[in-house]
Parts: sequence; C-alpha cells; structure tokens
Amino acid sequence: MNFLEQLKPEKEFFIGIDSDGCVFDTMEVKHKEFFCPNTVKYFGLFAISKYVRETWEFVNLYSVTRGINRFPALVRVMDLLAERPEINELGFKLPDMEPLRQWITGETRLGNPVFREYFLSNPHPALKPVLNWTLAVNEDIAKWLRNTPPFPYARKSIERLCTLADAIVVSQTPHEALAREWEEHSIDRFVKAIAGQEHGTKTEHLTMAAKGKYPDDRILMIGDAPGDYKAALGNNALFFPVVPGNENRSWKLFFDEGLDRFISGTYKGDYQDKLIKEFRESLPEKPSWQKTGI
Ligand SMILES: [Mg+2]
Repeated sequence: MNFLEQLKPEKEFFIGIDSDGCVFDTMEVKHKEFFCPNTVKYFGLFAISKYVRETWEFVNLYSVTRGINRFPALVRVMDLLAERPEINELGFKLPDMEPLRQWITGETRLGNPVFREYFLSNPHPALKPVLNWTLAVNEDIAKWLRNTPPFPYARKSIERLCTLADAIVVSQTPHEALAREWEEHSIDRFVKAIAGQEHGTKTEHLTMAAKGKYPDDRILMIGDAPGDYKAALGNNALFFPVVPGNENRSWKLFFDEGLDRFISGTYKGDYQDKLIKEFRESLPEKPSWQKTGI
C-alpha cells in the first residue's frame, strides 16, 4: 500500500485540491518563463519560436488541455505545430516525438524519475533532449521561482475546509516542487498528504486516497483544469471549478457558499452544473489560428 491508500478518514468529508493555477497563481509564470523558453532551447526551435510560444500557451493555459502533464503536453504542442502551414512553408523539421508518445501510451506515472529509468533502458536519441528539457525545467523553477503566494481566498478557504474535511493536494507537478511551495506559504499543515506526478494520475490519487472510504457525494475535487474535472468524474465525486482568469472570484464563491453547500449536501445538482458550464465555456477546444482558417 502506498501513502495515499494508507490514509484513514478522520472527518466525514474529503477534499482533493489541485495546486498550480488553482491555489497558486503559478501557471502563467511557469509556462511563459520556464517551460516554453526551455522547449525552444532544448529542441532547437529558435526559427519558429513565436509559433512555439503561441502553441505552447494554447495547449497549456488557454484551452481544454490546460494543466495536462508536461510530457503529453510536449507531444500535443509538436502535433499542433506540425499542422501549421507557416511551419511547413519554412520547411522546418520538428523533433521526433514518436518514442516519447510510445512511453506515454504505456505509463501513468509521467514524472522525471520514471522517465529517466525508461530512457536508460531505451536510450533512443529522440528521448535524450526530452530528458535534458524536463530536468532543466525543474532546475530552473527551483532556482528562480519565488514569492508566488496562494490566491487570498484560496488560503482562507483551505484554512477553513481542513476543519471540516480531510484534505490532500492532488497534482501533476513534481512532488518536491509542491512540498516546497506549500511549505513556503505555510499551508502544508492544512493537508494530510501531497500527491504529485510521481504518484500516478489525479484520478488515481482520488481513488487511492478516498474512494470507498467516504460516500461519493462527500468527496470533492477543486481544480482549474479539465483534468481535475475528469478526476472527479472518474471517481463519481463532486467538482468545484476554479475558473481560469477568475481564480480569486471562484475561491471567494467557494468560501462564501460552495463549501457550506458541499457540507450540507446541496452542492450537487443545479448549483454544481451551472459552475461547471461556466468553467467549460472558458476553455476552447480549437486554437484561434485554426478557427480563422489561416
Ligand atoms: Mg491546475
């Protein structure tokens, strides 16, 4: 049994909380200042950097794939770039993503330690820049990123919800980064565990930590991305969306109404449906450059 399966209920309710872009306003800065620049550097994409930037931000921040794990995100970005006429016109050769795609297909623990092991036993040359890239991203973030506090109402909500529910962090960020960020802002004491990308998917986190230990409608996932919603659906649990661009307003709503409704059993139904509808409308499926037919 791992540490999530070993968690025992102490309260009658369970809440899983996503971290990046949900509690912390770090999504934009991580993608714009660390992920995207390292992608350009480690895959030699200087000639097409403006398209890489636009595509990277669409996939990771401003669309239905917001918040997906970095490895499938990288593959998706390259797939979208391959479809862009501007890049074909340049005759630019994009990096080979097939070996990475193969690894992703057969693995759910999409983190650096498992990837490094895989690379050592399958040293395909196309995987080498991926390893260098993913390690560099972590190193850069650890070295530079500071002072990105939780959204004010996220902190207030977490302080309060932990008195009513067993709470854990459910994230696809590396565990060391999560532990550092939650400790730095003194909110780690409000959660019982921190689950990162090394511990499986978000759906698996919720299953291991909560499924069968609490009634389904007493399990809530809070997140800012479709992957968080999917994790809730996959466990027949409830979902509270933090709407990208309106994060603090969402948390205030949770603090003022959502938490009480969850505890009193009036969250599920019309109230939840309305919030999820607004959330889904905020994340498009198609990029704008495809819509305009360029
Ligand atoms: Mg998130």
